[in-house]
Amino acid sequence: MPPVALVPEPAAQPAAAQPATSRPATSRSAADVAPTPPLAARLGNVASSPVREILALTARPEVISFAGGLPAPELFDMEGIRAAYEAVLTDAPGSALQYSTTEGDPGLREAVAARLTVRGLATAADDLLVTTGSQQALTLLATALLEPGAVVLVEDPCYLAALQCFGFAGARVVPVPTDEDGIIPEALDEIAAREKPVLLYVIPTFQNPTGRTLPLARRTAVAEAAARHGFWIAEDDPYGELRFDGEPVPLLAGLPAAADRTVLLGSFSKVMAPGLRLGYLRAPAVLRRACVIAKQAADLHTSTVDQAAVARYLRDRDLDAHVAGMRAAYRARRDAMLDGLPAALPEGSRWNRPEGGMFVWATLPEGRDATALLPAAVDRNVAYVPGAPFFSGTPDPASLRLSFTTHTPAEIAEGLRRLAMVFT
Ligand code: PMP
Repeated sequence: MPPVALVPEPAAQPAAAQPATSRPATSRSAADVAPTPPLAARLGNVASSPVREILALTARPEVISFAGGLPAPELFDMEGIRAAYEAVLTDAPGSALQYSTTEGDPGLREAVAARLTVRGLATAADDLLVTTGSQQALTLLATALLEPGAVVLVEDPCYLAALQCFGFAGARVVPVPTDEDGIIPEALDEIAAREKPVLLYVIPTFQNPTGRTLPLARRTAVAEAAARHGFWIAEDDPYGELRFDGEPVPLLAGLPAAADRTVLLGSFSKVMAPGLRLGYLRAPAVLRRACVIAKQAADLHTSTVDQAAVARYLRDRDLDAHVAGMRAAYRARRDAMLDGLPAALPEGSRWNRPEGGMFVWATLPEGRDATALLPAAVDRNVAYVPGAPFFSGTPDPASLRLSFTTHTPAEIAEGLRRLAMVFT
């Protein structure tokens, strides 16, 4: 699929191009007016997908959309979040609305450190930098680590906005092949030896877009490869706490082989609400300090009042109980999707059964093109995201990503009945 430039049109024509008679008498003469300089060349490194335009049509209320990567809004703890904001604005409005330190609210960092420690990753508050969503952590890492032309290895397929971020940094993104269990360690080893990467970016648990989880043996192999070849690992973990079945797999950041070179990215977006724009980064000291400097230049610090409110929420409420409720709702939605897929997809299709997260990854029989079929799906008021744009290597046109989070089981069943009419 040909990429479409992110920035749609060149700047407006300079006034010199207009007929002199159309200008007011007071305007400058053509000789005084120079065109503005062009936009930065780095914008050329980043593509946006034409699929976006089709998906813009799915905002209609009658559309059952499996396309978005959004958490279910009816599951946000509105009451608890409102109470937390109320409390900080009542008890300490001066500090909640004041400038603060770049590293982030100490109470919030304490609470995040305690949560990570309970998950098996011993963490102190000072190991953490609060970020404006985990998306900002990606930008900070790119600023701190990537010279133009530096090699970043990514899973193929990979989260799109990470690819954009590395593209903006002028990095050379090199795809590493994956299978049903995620990144293939032998391929990683071979590619790392050849490409001398600075960074490997992975989403080991309930990956976006595939929903796959990297088993422990592969995590160990990835950590050993990082140590052997000397690259950093960015472990992006926005979905790890959304496990419905099976046992948690240890975080890559805790494996001894690469503990000194792994950065963990976490987020409140999927367990509380993405509008808070709160994430965090846990990194070895040298890299964390570099990210602090990069963040000073980017936004000084993340919103003080939002950090204080979430710190207060974590103190007064039970986030684990809230997440347990989300997990139960998402499990029912995932099951509705898995129940409906056999009748919805044509004979010979394949799909996975993720143990958590937000996405199922499906592949239509060879020769079918999920991008070409999307307009017909949207006509029938159902949507998905074609898989092709997520690949930085050779795209698989038959693949698609189905999100099961934002509709009830009954709506999911109806959406899949509509899809059946398109696909079969
Ligand atoms: N990483 C991945 C893998 C994601 O899927 C997303 C958002 N969907 C993000 C990072 C960004 O999340 P945040 O809201 O924390 O910036």
